[in-house]
Amino acid sequence: MSTTKTYRAEWALPISSPPISPAEVIVDGDKIVEIRQAGKSSSDVIDLGNSAVIPGFVNVHTHLDYTVLRGMLEDLEFLPWIREITMRMGALDPDDWAASALWGAAEGMAAGVTTIGDCSPTGAALEGAHIMGMGGIVYQEVFGIDESRAVSEIVGDLTAKVTQFQKRAAGSRLNIGISPHAPYTVRAELFRALAAYAKAYNLPVCIHAAESQSEAELIRQGTGPMAEMFERREISWSPPGGSTVGYLNDLGILGKHTLLVHGVQGTVADQRIMAETGAAWAHCPKSNAKLANGCAPFELLQSDGTDGNSVSQSSIRVGLGSDSVASNNSMDMFEEMRFAVLLQRATNRSLHGLTAEKALRMATLGGAEALSLQNHIGSLESGKFADLCVVSLDGLHSAPVHDPVSALVYAGRASDVITTMTSGHFRYDARQSTHLDEKFPDLKISPLHIRFLEAARKMREWRPANL
Ligand SMILES: [Zn+2]
Repeated sequence: MSTTKTYRAEWALPISSPPISPAEVIVDGDKIVEIRQAGKSSSDVIDLGNSAVIPGFVNVHTHLDYTVLRGMLEDLEFLPWIREITMRMGALDPDDWAASALWGAAEGMAAGVTTIGDCSPTGAALEGAHIMGMGGIVYQEVFGIDESRAVSEIVGDLTAKVTQFQKRAAGSRLNIGISPHAPYTVRAELFRALAAYAKAYNLPVCIHAAESQSEAELIRQGTGPMAEMFERREISWSPPGGSTVGYLNDLGILGKHTLLVHGVQGTVADQRIMAETGAAWAHCPKSNAKLANGCAPFELLQSDGTDGNSVSQSSIRVGLGSDSVASNNSMDMFEEMRFAVLLQRATNRSLHGLTAEKALRMATLGGAEALSLQNHIGSLESGKFADLCVVSLDGLHSAPVHDPVSALVYAGRASDVITTMTSGHFRYDARQSTHLDEKFPDLKISPLHIRFLEAARKMREWRPANL
């Protein structure tokens, strides 16, 4: 019996080639076989109506674990915000974190996100993404700025977790990586050891880098709010000088499997280092704006304008990330694309830089490149995984569609997603019913909802032990 299915839609946006209308997407098993101009309709075609089929979104920076923190830590300065999250890690049990991460994965799938680059302190994201049928990389987070734990002990613990998670991820489309959290939470000696560990086992690495001004100040001259916090906690710190990216490069942790997140404080020199080492950026425009960190100058840095040497943007891989809902507050890649373009234009007062087309690429194929998964996902091409996001163009806010890319980036919403497929299987499907329970064929969403709200109540009522 043939497993080939033909889907017909008003538009298909392959990303690696121009939009097609009307279009047919042919899927066999878990792979895309062909994208073509639709012919005369026949009875064995599945009609997706007035919609656009795009590759599933690649959200290169998430923290599914933190879904339970949505709307809780509002209007805090960066440092108190991150300290509050760290303190609250003790508020929940593993079952609570599991419910939080699975709820986040379901939210992502309903928004057309089929691949993630997730930094997980608890490991719950792996299970959540696995159940939801997502692909991508789950990076186990590592911390250690003070010397209370020996480097060998931290690396030993991490190795045990990575081995355990690799076993759990077997048979899924998820890889395991490591995430030394940030230069202000991981000391130099630990970074060096983790760089050697990642290299020895060929593990992808993700680091929050060049995010806040206080981080830049700590690295450059050892002053500012973070330095004061170090002093209070009696953490010894000699500023390495220069930029975060330069510092990480000196520590030997940048390479083609390294993903740096944020880059708001990035400089032209940093972009050169990124191009030379092959490291990639995760661009999180909404999170950067909400935490008042700024707008990452990725497109601005195409040329330094001083010595005429330009850094080609195309030589640096950049993907789009929502970051956690603790700083966003939703996983809506349409909104993320829109913010990416509009914030840059508002900041630079210029139309040069990101366009709708570039933002859509960044949210799909660009993200796949940033995670080194471009041979398998990120565009609608024969031989790639059948990871599809089908977006309705029927909304009042969508019509008329003169240009499908403009319609999606400037007017699209996560709630326009009518169905999401990974590996040829519908994981979210709003076509059959308006009832949430029937939209997730493989997930019992009502019991999860109850469990998730219980975890949220625990988080809300949690108080530090010493208060
Ligand atoms: Zn993050």
